[in-house]
Amino acid sequence: NKAQLQLSQAPTEVKELAQTFNMMLARLAESWEQQRQFVGNVSHELRTPLTVVLGYLQSLLRRSTNLNDYQQEALQTAADEADRTVRLLQDLLNLARADSGYAHYSLERLSLNDVVTEVVQMTEKYSDRVIRVEAIGNIAAIADRDRLKQVLINLIDNAVKYSDAEQPIILSIDRLDGQALIRVRDRGVGIPLQDQSRIFERFYRVDEARARTTGGHGLGLAIVKTLVEGMGGNVTVRSKLGAGTEFSIALPT
Ligand code: ADP
Repeated sequence: NKAQLQLSQAPTEVKELAQTFNMMLARLAESWEQQRQFVGNVSHELRTPLTVVLGYLQSLLRRSTNLNDYQQEALQTAADEADRTVRLLQDLLNLARADSGYAHYSLERLSLNDVVTEVVQMTEKYSDRVIRVEAIGNIAAIADRDRLKQVLINLIDNAVKYSDAEQPIILSIDRLDGQALIRVRDRGVGIPLQDQSRIFERFYRVDEARARTTGGHGLGLAIVKTLVEGMGGNVTVRSKLGAGTEFSIALPT
């Protein structure tokens, strides 16, 4: 709506041009919405049966006692690929939901300390990594609790994937220029300067060779950016190759 041209005093040709432009904008918004819904629906329809396939493969692997090497490897590969694809579909579904806009966010005043502690306790259970939390006092922000948790999970997941097991991961909560700030810091491989502006794009991965072994699809940070901006905040990155990476999430208070 902001982009709509309003030219009440303008000559007829300009008015007609403005009308055409506004019509094009409306069509664009409509086709974008259709595309979003399409991706969401397809992801959902594919995820459900594939989750069943994955479940059976995993149960076969667990229960079969006399598999030969070939059978074991075939089942394991099929299960791994099904698992990767289920995660991709979940990410696509998350993106389609995140794109649905401001109206669907349930924004409330939250204690960041509570949300961060909750996420850290949860991720420590499955990642076997030490995650340190640093906070000066209790800091509140306006956000959607579940979406913020998703953002932090994605960032911690990356910190775990792209740093060595003995290195700490640090989450800090702070205030800056009237905003609340959550930083996720690791001492991992870092991100080359020329890639830093592109890592938030959908399906963008730095260096396919190093990325392939970690099993993602390049959607994690695109989800982070869409969700954070959907909550009225913004996300930035600072990183040095070989030294580590820090993502900062600024949220309104
Ligand atoms: P994925 O991790 O699935 O590849 P993401 O969208 O989460 O996708 O990240 C995009 C790329 O940014 C990754 O491929 C990786 O190269 C880089 N990256 C993200 N987080 C980090 C991090 N903490 N340290 C180093 N590189 C990172």
